Parts: sequence; structure tokens; C-alpha cells
Amino acid sequence: CGIVGYVGSRQAKTVLLGMMLRLEYRGYDSCGLATVETGVNLVKAATRVQDLADRGMEMPGTYGIGHTRWASVGTVTQENAHPFMACDQAVVIAHNGNIKNFAELKKRLENSGHQFSSQTDSEVIAHLTEEYYQGDLVDALGKAVKELDGPFAVIALHPDNRRLVAAVNGCPIVIGLGEGENWLASDVPALLEYTGRVFHLEDGDIAAVEADSVKIYAKGRLVSRANQTIGWAPE
Ligand code: GLU
Repeated sequence: CGIVGYVGSRQAKTVLLGMMLRLEYRGYDSCGLATVETGVNLVKAATRVQDLADRGMEMPGTYGIGHTRWASVGTVTQENAHPFMACDQAVVIAHNGNIKNFAELKKRLENSGHQFSSQTDSEVIAHLTEEYYQGDLVDALGKAVKELDGPFAVIALHPDNRRLVAAVNGCPIVIGLGEGENWLASDVPALLEYTGRVFHLEDGDIAAVEADSVKIYAKGRLVSRANQTIGWAPE
């Protein structure tokens, strides 16, 4: 599938839908996106991205995440489309990959009171992150992904902070750098309209992406990936 994220000053809905259209080759059975103004706006459907865009829904907010799905666990339905929101109506995630141990994680989370809205493996990441969240999404997502068995790329948000947090292991995420805005995507073509300054996350990385900063943590330490910048200077 394709996952995307944007944080900056533009309307996130427009940016995310455009990036999702460019990633539809990675999967197109369903799609969805979430933006934040004060609370979370979330829309998803078992349709192509253009059909969702044509609805012209009101989704204010200058940061958010999006997903185009190619179902691997759970049928093709609106409920199983991403993003997923945890019970707190605050932690939101989009996921690419397969979580082999999702059934046991789901049972444990259900036993501690979490209500699931889908059949997917991916939804456990939202609830696990909620379990660990104590005001720091980097810490919470980092702890959540430690419990996952199987490949993943995840982008998460929380309305407490204008920040996107990404984690990868075996699935790609590229970060695109701008001036006062930054992008994340599964693949470079989604970014090229905006920037040529792009670099890949490495397995095990956790990235905290804000409008004016990108921080990468590997094994809990701040690291630099700037030497991987490829492409060309934007106009
Ligand atoms: N396993 C997840 C699902 O079935 C993600 C699939 C994907 O990467 O598109 O929803």
C-alpha cells in the first residue's frame, strides 16, 4: 500500500490526496486520510482516491496522514480502510505491511478494554500506541512497534502536537524536506511535485517530523541521515 504524511502551512487534505493519487500503483482497493485542526477529521472508504477526492469533504487542518490500501488482512470494506483511530479519538495511524502476531496483541488489548472497529492487523498499532501514550508520541509509537512481528511502515499523529511520527522496519518511508513544511511517503514519486530533497528512513528508525524540523532516532539516539539526501535543489 501507500502511506503519506504532510505537516506545514498548506491545507493537508489537498496535499495528501494528490500524494495518494501518485501512490495508487501500490494499492487501490480502499483509501482514507486524517487531518487535524483542533480535533481529528477522518474519512475513509472502499473506493479509488479520485472518488474520495470528488466528494469534496470539509477536512480543515495543516497536518495529516493518508493511505491507499491493498488488503492483506481483512476484507475490502470501509471499516478495514486506514487510517485507524484509537479509543481515545486522538492517536491515528496508517500502516503498510503485515503484523504476524496481531491476533494475540488484539486479544490482549481487547481484554484490557480496547474496542476494535476492523478486522485488520494494522488496527492493533493504534491501540498499542494509545496504551503507551503519556504525552510523547515518539516514545509511545517506539514502544508499540517493538511488540510487532513482521514488516511495517507506520505514520502516526496525535492532536496534542503538530507532528507526524514514523517508524519503519522492512517497508519504505521517504521524507521530503521543504521550507516550513515537510512530507512523508512510501515512495519518491509522491514527493517530487514539492521537493527534490529527499531521504529514506532506515530499518529501526523513528522519525519525528514537524513543519520546521525533522528528527531521526535510531535505538533511542538522535542520528543524522542528511548525508543520504539525494535528488536536486528545488527552485
Ligand atoms: N495489512 C494491512 C491491511 O491489510 C496493510 C496492507 C497494506 O500494506 O496495504 O490493511
